[in-house]
Amino acid sequence: MDIFMQAAISEALEGLSEGGVPIGAILVENGRIIGRGRNRRVQDQDQLMHAEMDCLRHARLTGGYHNTTLYSTLMPCYLCAGALVQFGIKKVIVGEANSAPAAMQFMLSHGIEVVDLDLPECREMMHRYISENRNQWEQFLRELNPDLLQAETSISLRHDLRPGDVGYITYLHGILYAPQQAWDHTFDSYVAIPLAEFAKRRNHRERIWIVERAGQIAGSVAIIEFSQEEAQLRWLLLQPDLRGQGLGRRLVQEAVDFAREAGYSSIFLWTVDSLPVAAGLYKSAGFREKEKVTHELWASMVTEIKYEMDLTI
Ligand SMILES: [Zn+2]
Repeated sequence: MDIFMQAAISEALEGLSEGGVPIGAILVENGRIIGRGRNRRVQDQDQLMHAEMDCLRHARLTGGYHNTTLYSTLMPCYLCAGALVQFGIKKVIVGEANSAPAAMQFMLSHGIEVVDLDLPECREMMHRYISENRNQWEQFLRELNPDLLQAETSISLRHDLRPGDVGYITYLHGILYAPQQAWDHTFDSYVAIPLAEFAKRRNHRERIWIVERAGQIAGSVAIIEFSQEEAQLRWLLLQPDLRGQGLGRRLVQEAVDFAREAGYSSIFLWTVDSLPVAAGLYKSAGFREKEKVTHELWASMVTEIKYEMDLTI
């Protein structure tokens, strides 16, 4: 394992041995640890002393935080994410993201690169702490903004387009894919133009799935009529913190089922080779790679891959 994540886990375990919540954080600059900390909520009776805050408080800084990477065993909350934004930390590597309400989207929207290693040891460490200290954990959760807790659970799907959706779905594609893939703003028009055309049609052989979390769009997929015989799957998108929970798989499967019921004999989609997780979803749904083309697109060299599935079998 990454030595810095290992160091963050050591901090978490140290906190656990003190009777605290096992969350640890490390600040790294030029390959060197310059700060370490652990959650001290229990030890200090201080609700602001999260692992990241403890780490930042004790960091030995040479010239500000701009060249540092923060490692945390758990995805930062809004309090800590606010501190990362405030001090211009550009990269955060976390052990897991599922044990407590977190602020991943907030960090991404402020240009922070977030890497979720999704480590079983980090998940198990928190799981064990929560199950052994359930009353205390629930008391901590009661201290939080209730909207954050609701945001974790209320996922819904709808098929109708509402005012603002075309723009918002385009915006999400822009902020979630383009910076990560080094594409420029022309990617927006690649999404927006056909999406706007789709919004004008009322075709019963076409459908969009809009994922909402706490009333805000957090994902999408659609089936478009390419021809009488061919359906095209488009605009598969999911907020990063909703990935890995089977939701993407469900969206692809529902889209394929719809295309089959609508009477298409095949379904295809275009994706890029730099999105391996999406490719895995398509393949497990039954898509096969059909065609590959590398060309300049969206101010970058892009290898596009066409996947196809026969629906008559
Ligand atoms: Zn925090």
